[in-house]
Amino acid sequence: MDYGHLPDKATLILSENEISQRVRALGSLISFDYHSVLKKDDLLLVIGVLNGAFVFMADLIREMSVALEVDFVRLSSYSDSKTSSSQVVMLKGLEREIKDRHVLVVEDIADCGLTLAWFVDHLKSRQPASIKLAVAFDKKSRRQIDLNLDYVGFELDEGFLVGYGLDAARRYRELKGIYSIED
Ligand code: 5GP
Ligand code: MG
Repeated sequence: MDYGHLPDKATLILSENEISQRVRALGSLISFDYHSVLKKDDLLLVIGVLNGAFVFMADLIREMSVALEVDFVRLSSYSDSKTSSSQVVMLKGLEREIKDRHVLVVEDIADCGLTLAWFVDHLKSRQPASIKLAVAFDKKSRRQIDLNLDYVGFELDEGFLVGYGLDAARRYRELKGIYSIED
């Protein structure tokens, strides 16, 4: 049951229970994969992309059983109508050094893919030991750029989504389920 204010004409797409079951499974899978990769005393560096990823990341790391630390970046993407290209700006950068570290990037949703593709390039230039991507939701059919997502919660194709960290004009992040609203 969601107690937050629901947007007009919202359709429930995923319940709190469906999400938590999937996040639990993802947490186990991710932990299994990293157990053999991380050496003794290594901490996995989990990087959350603000603002949207904070809810998913909080749930996901508590379903993981590897030693880890967290860091956050804030990225903003906008389209330039004149050049019809997309620009990504980093409004808050990393605080941790990533060279030779195993890095897991956690993002709320992959859509066109430009934001994550830009960020992966940015991280690669700093020579981490490995980079993997985990997204809660994937709108795969809208992809414009090749993106290798290692862990996906749900593939969805249901319009504009809010809840579970996702906003519409900064609202509805607190909803426990995922809802589709009219664009
Ligand atoms: P892209 O993959 O197109 O570069 O952008 C991904 C970003 O667009 C996400 O991090 C998110 O902020 C935003 N976004 C894409 N689809 C949706 C959606 O359905 N709902 C919300 N609230 N944000 C979305
Ligand atoms: Mg985002």
